[in-house]
Amino acid sequence: DIRRPAGVSTAALLLTAASGGGIVAYADSSRAEEAPEPPPRKKKVVVLGTGWAGTSFLKNLDSSRYEVKVISPRNYFAFTPLLPSVTCGTVEARSVVEPIRRMFEKKGKDVAYYEAECLKIDPTKKAVHCRSAVGTNLDGNGDFMLDYDYLVVALGAAVNTFNTPGVMEHCHFLKEVEDAQKIRKSVIDCFERASIPNISEEEKRKILHFVIIGGGPTGVEFAAELHDFLVEDLVKLYPAIEQFVKITIIQSGEHILNTFDQRIAVFAESKFQRDGIELSTGFRVIKVSDDSITVKCKSSGVETLVPYGMAIWSAGIGTRPVITDFMNQGKRRALATNEWLRVPECDSVYAIGDCSSISQRKIMEDISTIFKVADKDNSGTLTLKEINDVLEDICIRYPQVELYMKSMHMVDIADLIKGGLGDSHKESMVVNIEEFKKALCHVDSQVKTVPATAQVAAQQGYYLADCFNKKDHCTEHPEGPLRLTGSGEGHHNFRPFRYKHLGQFAPLGGEQAAAELPGDWVSMGHSTQWLWYSVYASKQVSWRTRVLVVSDWTRRFIFGRDSSRI
Ligand code: FAD
Repeated sequence: DIRRPAGVSTAALLLTAASGGGIVAYADSSRAEEAPEPPPRKKKVVVLGTGWAGTSFLKNLDSSRYEVKVISPRNYFAFTPLLPSVTCGTVEARSVVEPIRRMFEKKGKDVAYYEAECLKIDPTKKAVHCRSAVGTNLDGNGDFMLDYDYLVVALGAAVNTFNTPGVMEHCHFLKEVEDAQKIRKSVIDCFERASIPNISEEEKRKILHFVIIGGGPTGVEFAAELHDFLVEDLVKLYPAIEQFVKITIIQSGEHILNTFDQRIAVFAESKFQRDGIELSTGFRVIKVSDDSITVKCKSSGVETLVPYGMAIWSAGIGTRPVITDFMNQGKRRALATNEWLRVPECDSVYAIGDCSSISQRKIMEDISTIFKVADKDNSGTLTLKEINDVLEDICIRYPQVELYMKSMHMVDIADLIKGGLGDSHKESMVVNIEEFKKALCHVDSQVKTVPATAQVAAQQGYYLADCFNKKDHCTEHPEGPLRLTGSGEGHHNFRPFRYKHLGQFAPLGGEQAAAELPGDWVSMGHSTQWLWYSVYASKQVSWRTRVLVVSDWTRRFIFGRDSSRI
């Protein structure tokens, strides 16, 4: 049993042992002093979320420079743009996910992953409180804490029901892979239910009425997928009930796909009309019960009951509870970041993807431009109708404005004007633009300057990883471009984040798609669908998912979709 006195090297001890013990002069202290300094402690980076933003950050981060820990309740990355295809079995769920550990292993990343949920962010202690998503630890609750030097919040967004009664209980959502799988089962369920004997025609019509609430890209793509599934596969399998099937899209705006170029919206609407997909535009859903949806016509205020068999809510995104809690600590209303994606007032916290928003400066500039365009005669005033249109335009570009207005119960423009400008303003009066803009200033940091898309999330993740990779270099060479915001704040080491829009697609079913490409190019029809196939095949995160997705498409062409309810 050789016990080593402090400061004595192993070599000295071995020498002692070899000489048979006895008296030894422990004179090795000079060598101990010569021992090289231990390397400086690596800074701890904790990443919350393994979606588009989180994985883009992790893939591009030089993980040898940091001690990286990742928290997410899902141990995979999901390729969300193909989720609508999963709902009808065009593509299988496993084809659109990639295990997160495999991604790290393939990229040679030294990253620790924990399948857990972040419950609370504590910026004062620089720690996150987490709970295991896979059972408990010895204490019985599975809770643990991780401290960080840098925190990257990439938690994505939650579904937003705008507190519409009954939506949570009765509607399907299309946010996660599990949602898509549930929808697939429910569609088949509806067909099987409607095929049971002794069901009245009226009941069959109700069961086979598929209602999609929200005419944005997700709602439209799902409607197109469902229509293809019906006409290509289900009508052959359920010929007796074919005539009772109906698909309806309820959209509060005047057009579907209103974030797209108007030509695309018009093309999509006429294609859907030809396909028999009903478009209820200008209607707001105010209540959902187990068998009917109450809608209110925005122009007449008349309420109508719409019986349905299955409803899908894709009308908006909201904030996750952990983010709401974090914002409340700092009395912030949104997880606003500066243009370098750092959360101001919080030391070393960054936010990327759908959970973050860039401050209101840019949006206020954009709102000014929208007003300028609307004020055609340069009178400085707009009618209420024009204001309505302007606001709709703003809400389309910046969904957070609408969320904010709804959370403040300013759903109606008239209410907003009353709230912002005082009761003296009657609905019939023209509105002074400057006064109205002041009222709109309420939108404050709620507003997101870029859309909540995978493109934005991935670009932000890439940008932030690049900044992290260059941090040491920039600390040693602090000269950098002049900081763009504020005055007298000195230099900032990195160029600010700038979103580069690479275009967007809208698959419309029947092997047709529409695309908005950079440089104001618009492309529609069958050839665009082939462009969509090639872009989405090339964008897959691995060769494994690429092969799976392409083989799923091929399988569907040859054998059709699988309608088994498993
Ligand atoms: P997400 O990708 O949602 O990732 C959030 C991550 O946080 C997930 O890993 C989640 O598990 C994790 N998480 C959640 N809660 C916690 C917690 N408490 N603790 C730890 N981790 C947590 N965008 C496009 O650009 N093009 C498209 O065609 C397109 N199509 C879409 C189709 C559908 C059906 C949907 C739903 C979205 C689509 N989007 C599309 C939008 C795109 O998916 C999102 O903008 C993108 O996912 C945002 O990335 P994110 O990393 O911010 O969030």
